Amino acid sequence: MLILGLQKTTLLDYPGKVASTIFTGGCNFRCPYCHNRDLVIPPSDVMAYSEEEIFTHLIQKKKVLDGVCITGGEPTLHKDLPDFIARIKEMGLLVKLDSNGTNPEMIKSLVNNGLIDYVAMDIKHSKEKYNTIASMKSFDLAAIEESVDFLKEGHIDYEFRTTIMKECHNSEDMDAIGKWLQGAKAYFLQSYKESEQVINPIFTPHSAETLESFVELLKPYIPNTHLRGID
Ligand code: SF4
Repeated sequence: MLILGLQKTTLLDYPGKVASTIFTGGCNFRCPYCHNRDLVIPPSDVMAYSEEEIFTHLIQKKKVLDGVCITGGEPTLHKDLPDFIARIKEMGLLVKLDSNGTNPEMIKSLVNNGLIDYVAMDIKHSKEKYNTIASMKSFDLAAIEESVDFLKEGHIDYEFRTTIMKECHNSEDMDAIGKWLQGAKAYFLQSYKESEQVINPIFTPHSAETLESFVELLKPYIPNTHLRGID
């Protein structure tokens, strides 16, 4: 598995847990706002971690860690992800998976085999506008819908989350997303943070007031809707 980053300890990435975060390389989306450009489109001279380096770290820190977050890039692109996670689970650690939801078969298999404990799935936009963010040459909404439907069945603890940009998301879009995700366990809106380091720095954030109005709009559909990371 291509591992391009390791955050040794975080209190932010796994809700309520002390975790290490592992960043896999490569992604099938090209979200313009992505802050992980070097993970999505790795430079030719990129230095990867060996799996043994990761496990050496996890063994050293096992006493202070509750779990491991696996993020990207898109982790489910890696066929050896289940084997990698199985080694983490053998250590007795929890595993949270961040995913863009394009590989529902992998997500189902990881859940059904007890390999993951929490899923955070990105919802890029309403169904109609999804690929305006994902920016795929060949886009398959059915895979995204399948992942959403599976998570909503409640086999595992999960959240949906959307990064919100002023130029992309309005109240009609939020209403469409609310109707789609209706009944979901948890939904987080994350404000876009301007940066020159993103894939395409063309967006700006909404005001805090507008974001709060989106949360109120969504609550009838998903009562457990919140803002995350607002300064
Ligand atoms: S799915 Fe995630 S990692 Fe991939 S381009 Fe979009 S924001 Fe970046």
